[in-house]
Amino acid sequence: MKIQKTALIAGNWKMNGTIKEAKRLVSSLLEKYNATPSLDAKILICPPMTLLNYVGNLLEGTNIFLGGQNCHYEVSGAHTGEVSANMMRDSGCSHVIVGHSERRSQYGETDKEIFCKVEAVLEHGMKAIMCVGETLKSRQEGNAINYVTRQLDEVLNSRLSLENLVIAYEPIWAIGSGKTPKISEIEEIHEVIKKVLSKSLSQNHEVPVIYGGSVNPTNAEEVLGLEAVNGVLVGGASLNTNDFWEIVNAAS
Ligand code: PEP
Repeated sequence: MKIQKTALIAGNWKMNGTIKEAKRLVSSLLEKYNATPSLDAKILICPPMTLLNYVGNLLEGTNIFLGGQNCHYEVSGAHTGEVSANMMRDSGCSHVIVGHSERRSQYGETDKEIFCKVEAVLEHGMKAIMCVGETLKSRQEGNAINYVTRQLDEVLNSRLSLENLVIAYEPIWAIGSGKTPKISEIEEIHEVIKKVLSKSLSQNHEVPVIYGGSVNPTNAEEVLGLEAVNGVLVGGASLNTNDFWEIVNAAS
């Protein structure tokens, strides 16, 4: 089963990569990209902040997009170690991931703070990829849908124009674990997210919802084949160009 719309295939390198490693990864990606005359997928690479400029330069002249993994919601100021949405834009990013579950769990990011980051990213003319996803406990207790829709409340209660918002549904227990929800569970939750958000949007626009959590060359085609899935956010497999490219091909 093939998807109808151009899927977003986003690679989240997390805290991985030196300049040398980035050179190797991007060169082999570009080799495959240049050897593929028509590609029905939108590719996004999200390296660590230190590599944004370097990777951005390597990607220049291609249709591969550059993204950040996080940003601060203020434009500038006394926030040692932080980087603003404005700076991400300045480094060539078209997208920024916000509210990844690793940031929620390791750095205590709240829904309110994540909403402020979404706002900052959109205000700076980029697309915000806002991550949501339930814990294993809430999935097992049958509360996954409630858990995820509650994470959308801040966005839903705002007057934010959501045209440049992308939601990444990433069950926490599926990230880096090799486990995934059942295909019917992915479909169900994507449909719910779209339905909930559509109430806040103009009739002609639907918020893209991408899936993340142990996507690999074996399961990518089935996941991307779901009508309610508009792409995938790939962690571990994005650090292996062969695997990543197989996932890109599963979308084409
Ligand atoms: C992620 O970190 O967003 C992710 C989906 O990781 P992985 O693909 O490794 O599960």
